[in-house]
Amino acid sequence: MNQTDVRVRFAPSPTGPLHIGGVRTALFNYLFARKHGGKFILRIEDTDSTRFVPGAEEYINESLSWLGLKVDEGVREGGEYGPYKQSQRRDIYRQYAQQLIDNGWAYYAFDTPEELDALRSQYEADKKTFAYDVHNRSGLNNSLKLGDEETLKRIEAGEPYVIRFKMPENVDVSVKDIVRGQVTFNTSTLDDKVLFKSADQLPTYHLANVTDDHLMKITHVIRGEEWLPSLPLHVMLYRAFGWEKTMPEFAHLPLILKPSGKGKLSKRDGDKEGFPVFPLKYISPDGDVSAGYRESGYFPEAVNNLLVLLGWNPGTEQELFTIDELIDLFTLERVNKSGARFDPDKARWFNHQYLIKKSDAELAILYKTVLAEKGIETDLSLVEKIVGLVKERVNFVEELWEQTWFFFQKPQGYDEKVVKKRWKGDVPVFILKLTDLFDSAEIWEAEPLKEMVSAEINKKEQNFGNVMNALRLSLVGGAFGPDLFTIIEILGKKECVERIKLAVEVLGSH
Ligand code: GLU
Repeated sequence: MNQTDVRVRFAPSPTGPLHIGGVRTALFNYLFARKHGGKFILRIEDTDSTRFVPGAEEYINESLSWLGLKVDEGVREGGEYGPYKQSQRRDIYRQYAQQLIDNGWAYYAFDTPEELDALRSQYEADKKTFAYDVHNRSGLNNSLKLGDEETLKRIEAGEPYVIRFKMPENVDVSVKDIVRGQVTFNTSTLDDKVLFKSADQLPTYHLANVTDDHLMKITHVIRGEEWLPSLPLHVMLYRAFGWEKTMPEFAHLPLILKPSGKGKLSKRDGDKEGFPVFPLKYISPDGDVSAGYRESGYFPEAVNNLLVLLGWNPGTEQELFTIDELIDLFTLERVNKSGARFDPDKARWFNHQYLIKKSDAELAILYKTVLAEKGIETDLSLVEKIVGLVKERVNFVEELWEQTWFFFQKPQGYDEKVVKKRWKGDVPVFILKLTDLFDSAEIWEAEPLKEMVSAEINKKEQNFGNVMNALRLSLVGGAFGPDLFTIIEILGKKECVERIKLAVEVLGSH
């Protein structure tokens, strides 16, 4: 196959917000397409009208565009193989379902839901499981039993029906999955899946998915492991249509597991442990709110990076990758078979890595909007300086506030422990007197100020540790923050003097 012919699709159903497992599937498809200079297609699989959720399609588009996964062909982008929304392709499916009926690979079934329920209960009573399959299809309410004439009569009378795939008996089929290797099955273990329903004139997932993959010339189906059980039916559908020669290759991606490593990662895990499971914040039609990576302060590059390592490995120790490096390195052969455990701490670590990689100037712009929301308007160059001092300590831009609020406002109180330990003896008086020294300082820079204060401490035979800590306490309200004299330099003379006086006023000078 010519490399440039690679065509992959991400085929979500708009049934709710996209789980990060879905996003990872999109990312792997995207990387694979880009690596081979192929096309990344977005197909909306909306044939299950009962599960349709308004807004879900928009959510999918917005998520992909936030992550920079540019779609080449899709509902919004258009393309040669459209429409890219399955609900707009009804006639196509109807025609292909008919083709299967005509060549004996499918049949009409009229069994009502009540009849099928009764059969299920009957089987259950005998400790068996009912399956509509080769073993019992000839006795059920379908065209195989009723014959052409009766079938036609019923259809013409408007009796609801479904079209079922006629799974052949005892055929061994073997197909290669790029991730899992050879997958082998025997058709006798499979049931006769519904392909089409007359009630809404819509296909089921299987028929629509296979037909579209064929018509859209998809070369590789890269999707989650939960679809692996559908693979045998899909292979049989390709066979039934006579499309086996151009059947896509398959790669089923491993599950993303809970932080405990047990079971599939769910929204509940995220809610419980405080991490997002969705790319963007989502409010369901009944008002249930789910956190999003974007709103939680993750950078899209960090999300792509953390997701790619959930199921893929580069074969080296490298953990941080630009998207271009990923495009270069990504191969389906390096996708793991076993489930990938989601580690929320590691997710935050990734964001931290991308945060510290950003320049102080870039971060300052981001942090300035956080400050503006708090009603603080400050000079960008000052914000840049402040951000540079503390960025190593945070994972998210929002967290910069906890580390820097004292640059923008006076302390609201003083840490009692520090007061007790450091604000004693003649230290407060000494500190108050420092304000005169500060007033007289000609150069307001950390180093000379530090020398000046140190000299004064020596001169007055003060305890160095007590003074420095008490000074810090008066300026920020506690025993935290970056280098004291850098704080002093940034706060400026007037503000420092005011804060010292305020502390002495509030805490007294004994
Ligand atoms: N519509 C399916 C989904 O929601 C697509 C599965 C596939 O990629 O074949 O995930």
